[in-house]
Amino acid sequence: MLAFMHAPKLMPLEDAITTVLGETPDPRKAEVPLEQSVGGVLAADVRSDMDMPPFRKSMMDGYALRAADTAGSAVVLDVVETIHAGMVPTAEVLPGQAAAIMTGAPLPEGADAVVMVERTEREAEGRVRIDVAVPVGNHIVPAGEDARCGDVVLRAGTRIGPAAVASLAAVGCDPVPVFGAPRVCVFTTGDEVVPPWKKPGPGCIRNSNSPMLAARVARDVGAVRDGGVLVDDAGAIGGAAAKAFREYDVVVFTGGVSMGEKDLVAEAIRGAGFAEVFHQISVKPGKPVLFGKAKGTLVFGLPGNPVSSAVTYELIVRPALMKLSGRTPLHRPQVSAVLEGPAPRAIPREQYLPAVLSPGPAGFSVRLVPWNGSADLFSFAAGNVLLRIPRGGPAPEAGDRVMTVVVADDVSSIFGA
Ligand code: AMP
Ligand code: MG
Repeated sequence: MLAFMHAPKLMPLEDAITTVLGETPDPRKAEVPLEQSVGGVLAADVRSDMDMPPFRKSMMDGYALRAADTAGSAVVLDVVETIHAGMVPTAEVLPGQAAAIMTGAPLPEGADAVVMVERTEREAEGRVRIDVAVPVGNHIVPAGEDARCGDVVLRAGTRIGPAAVASLAAVGCDPVPVFGAPRVCVFTTGDEVVPPWKKPGPGCIRNSNSPMLAARVARDVGAVRDGGVLVDDAGAIGGAAAKAFREYDVVVFTGGVSMGEKDLVAEAIRGAGFAEVFHQISVKPGKPVLFGKAKGTLVFGLPGNPVSSAVTYELIVRPALMKLSGRTPLHRPQVSAVLEGPAPRAIPREQYLPAVLSPGPAGFSVRLVPWNGSADLFSFAAGNVLLRIPRGGPAPEAGDRVMTVVVADDVSSIFGA
């Protein structure tokens, strides 16, 4: 008999998230070669190992000279040497003298300005004519202007993009201290679940959760192992779990965590060392979520319904992966918007409904995506946010201000292309 008499009080979503983050360890530190560092997260502050630039240098091809020599009308100076980038000047520039200098070359002693070659005229051998007054410091970068030796040029926690790679290279930071990406394995459970390349037989359904979750994990931490589909058999699930718990930092199951007779995951993985922290939370979709640990491995059981699985990944699993990777912010951004169109229904649980957020002249507006519930992955894919309806509260009506959680990867639909 299904007994509802003593239904346990469900954990609120925010407590579930706090609990998961509390159980999530700090990121591991690792080192990667500079050329493989893009996409990683810096595990330490990076300092410049010298003044940048390391010497006073010319920003132009032209002539290094004494600015005072050009203060009057046109002047003709003796060119005493030519300095290319990579050379060291050999002579001081005295009054009445200049040195031909190329971009990136060190300034010679005595010179306090550079005039660009386009503003000069080469006279007879060894002389140059200058018709403009050149201000002191013109086209010169002083040594140490960009960074001093010991200055922090990149902070720990920075996600390494191409600009950061340039900074790392410039200060000779190789190998690069990064946070190691967590090792994550995803399993789907269900006798009825067949691979995407197969036409499902009677009563069967294609596996969309594994590709969907693997894609989310790959997007968030870079790599993932798809453990495939496990049949609804305690032995099969327990065996796969035991192996995965030894090899991965995070193991995510989908399906098999609800109240049905074939929902065996929670029980089946206990024998593999799983210690439950919570099972079932007060959120829709996503009530059946299971969470616990097997030694150091974080273990999540997400509902099998594709939308429930996607939403609970975003709200609960992803913050843990962010913490394990050393990335911030842990949570998806929230945007306040005015509700347009049909209003949602209120229920006792906190709700997250697929919706479309759009910019407008008076701020953001949001409209629910018409959908058929938590199996309707096509409608879910049409949304760019989740509209959050707090638990217990009255349902918002058209014109009310509501909170949305941005889950779209491509935010061009929200913030403009
Ligand atoms: P469960 O959570 O195992 O009770 O599954 C709930 C619903 O989600 C059922 O209709 C399943 O057929 C469906 N489902 C479970 N796993 C998947 C999957 N990997 N891909 C698509 N649908 C699934
Ligand atoms: Mg199932």
